[in-house]
Amino acid sequence: MDAANTPYTAQVAELHRAIEDKMRYAVGRDPRHARLHDWYAATALAVRDRIVDRWHATARSADEANAKRVYYLSLEFLIGRLLTDSLTNLNLMTAAKEALALHGVSFDQIKDLEPDAALGNGGLGRLAACFMESMATVGLAGLGYGIRYDHGLFRQVIRDGYQVEMPEDWLVFGNPWEFERPEIAYDIGFGGRVLPQDQPDGSSRLVWMPAERVRAVAYDTPVVGWQGTHINTLRLWRARSVEPMRLDAFNRGHHADAFAAQLNATNISRVLYPDDSSEAGRELRLKQEFFFTSASLQDLVRRHMAQQGSVERLPDTASIQLNDTHPAVAVAELVRLLVDEYGLTLERAFSIARGTLGYTNHTLLPEALESWPVTLFERLLPRHMQIIYEINALHLDTATPRPVSSPELRRSISLIDESNGRQVRMGHLAFVGSKKVNGVSALHGDLMKTTVFRDFHKLFPDRITAITNGITFRRWLVECNPGLTALINDSIGNRWVADAEELSELARFVDDTPFMDRYSAVKRENKQRLAALVQDRMGIRLDPDALFDVQIKRIHEYKRQLLNLIETVALYDKMRAEPGRNWTPRVKIFAGKAAASYHRAKLIIKLANDIARVVNNDPVVRDRLRVVFLPNYNVSLAEVIIPAADLSEQISTAGLEASGTGNMKMALNGALTIGTLDGANIEIRDHVGDDNILIFGLRADEVADIKASGYDARAKVAACPSLAQAIEAIRSGVFSPDDPSRYAGLIDHLLNDDVFLVTADFESYEETHKRGAALYRTPLEWRRKALLNTAAMGWFSSDRTIREYARDIWQAAPHPSP
Ligand SMILES: *Cc1c(COP(=O)(O)O)cnc(C)c1O
Repeated sequence: MDAANTPYTAQVAELHRAIEDKMRYAVGRDPRHARLHDWYAATALAVRDRIVDRWHATARSADEANAKRVYYLSLEFLIGRLLTDSLTNLNLMTAAKEALALHGVSFDQIKDLEPDAALGNGGLGRLAACFMESMATVGLAGLGYGIRYDHGLFRQVIRDGYQVEMPEDWLVFGNPWEFERPEIAYDIGFGGRVLPQDQPDGSSRLVWMPAERVRAVAYDTPVVGWQGTHINTLRLWRARSVEPMRLDAFNRGHHADAFAAQLNATNISRVLYPDDSSEAGRELRLKQEFFFTSASLQDLVRRHMAQQGSVERLPDTASIQLNDTHPAVAVAELVRLLVDEYGLTLERAFSIARGTLGYTNHTLLPEALESWPVTLFERLLPRHMQIIYEINALHLDTATPRPVSSPELRRSISLIDESNGRQVRMGHLAFVGSKKVNGVSALHGDLMKTTVFRDFHKLFPDRITAITNGITFRRWLVECNPGLTALINDSIGNRWVADAEELSELARFVDDTPFMDRYSAVKRENKQRLAALVQDRMGIRLDPDALFDVQIKRIHEYKRQLLNLIETVALYDKMRAEPGRNWTPRVKIFAGKAAASYHRAKLIIKLANDIARVVNNDPVVRDRLRVVFLPNYNVSLAEVIIPAADLSEQISTAGLEASGTGNMKMALNGALTIGTLDGANIEIRDHVGDDNILIFGLRADEVADIKASGYDARAKVAACPSLAQAIEAIRSGVFSPDDPSRYAGLIDHLLNDDVFLVTADFESYEETHKRGAALYRTPLEWRRKALLNTAAMGWFSSDRTIREYARDIWQAAPHPSP
């Protein structure tokens, strides 16, 4: 069935019948006794049917056009829900709502029953999900590869103000979007030995004999592009044991032993690793990385061979993008496949790998750069360790423009870190094995050249590039903000959805009062929707006319939620001191998860909740200041908060947020940014203009200078009374009367070693907040700036990002729609 050519009433009738059929024959329930969840499942399955024909047609069209394949390898895909996304992109949303209504079911009731696919921690995983959607939208033959975790990111519960991590069970009711492919499976080896083996021609070659094998089984989820013209695939691997069980052990009564191998194997795809460097270095994590990388490479080489018959042409038919270093072992694994299985020389294999791979760097934080002890690597992947040594020799002696002779330079660019108990540096491996290495914003690309990859950049001046991140406007505007979407469509048509720069047309409505009134009304409705959610979940009443001041993201010291909280306390102090003043009513909204073992981040969550309790119960400030920490931040919660935001907090220490994408989502939905000149904030400022953004604080170069010359937080605090007062209130237990010293350590740490320069930026931040609050009191001015944000954000569409990757890294072109 082709939705685009079917008249609307026929679409409704067909969907109505299809949902009923699915209810009876796939869910297996009599519609008269169906529960809401059954309706969700039946609807999802009916929608999936409408995807499948075009999905197959897309694959055929890519084959016929001989389109270059783009493989996106990512350990994380933070997908969220798919029902609204699929219906929107297929243009079936209104028809589906009506079909369900004919069954007496409301779409809004069932859509929230879909669990979030949270196979990622934060921005990096969400980027991968946006890229998948954009590759389908722009018509690239893209395929995502990752792991189908049984348990994604933990569910965050706030108990007594503290974060408690609960397992997320997103698969308990099944997953209607995926297709299991038991016939698409690859064996992945671990451990064992590498031995020379005589060949029939008299030569000898090295053969890896793994001690253990685990099977990777494919699960495919279709990825629907805008208007459903292209439908790509996300292929996630699940680990299974090669043998289902050991019958001999079972028969001897050793029941646990009989299933030990099975259990051991399935552990690999059991849980998503937390975003926490202290957890890195764990053997299971390296196993996960190799598991999905090897399965993906085997799969794509097999596809290439079936179509081309020779591995030599791989760089012409395929581009493989590594999302951070998590799949960096791909360099060694691709070389191993080409040498050990296809008989190429190492030099030739390495050159093919380097013609095919690209590497996206996401962080400059030294503690977040992956490295693995040589001993662990050798034990788990002995053949790969050999290959890495050989690549290293090639790289140091010949592969660089000139042989590297200076011992200091050799040490710095070696794939092996000899200073630190011998470690394999995954960033270095990814760098030497890739044709392009990209940063994720202009600033981040520049900093890569002067910090982590400085010496590499001197040797390979053309390799590092910057491609600024983007977001898909389908999810982050069309789906999450239907009110604003309708207003935009009524005003400039809907071509902007595929061609985001057309949003600039909106700028001419700034002085159009009926338009602007509607723009304000939409924001107010979105704020009411969020207020209803907060009332419902937390029992806190919010005033939709207050300034909604939002910081939602992972809790991390460099993102500086603490700076925001200290400003909150300073504001609270001032309101209490001068209750009669004409304060701008404000709601401080926080949400975000902390890694389970990141104690200071978890204490910051507790602090937010402690401040919230005191402030929200204080009759003096009650109507002007509210503080809310919304539990369990995820994609679905973001979709409710973002359209309701007035002010977007993007306040990282300059130089530390590689790009940010939450900043883009909120600006697109008409929030003003209060932010530092960091990551993509800089480019947002360039697009929206200085007048329409609130910039404060030290720049990246100033941060570097201050750090180099030694920074004294105590002197800074002493010189700023509002900062001193707020810090003292937190330190002395004003917000933790049950345990007055709870935050003494946190504050002492801030004063003794303010790594992220919270105190250094405070004054400028507070001042800028005052400007923001004053501006909000002139609603016409505020909404004018808000609209100019929406109008200027077109460039931040991930369609633009993907086109830049396609042009500058992948050399891949769209193929015609089927
Ligand atoms: C966009 C997004 C992020 C990234 O937010 P930043 O502010 O860029 O750190 C993290 N988590 C979720 C659920 C998101 O949607």
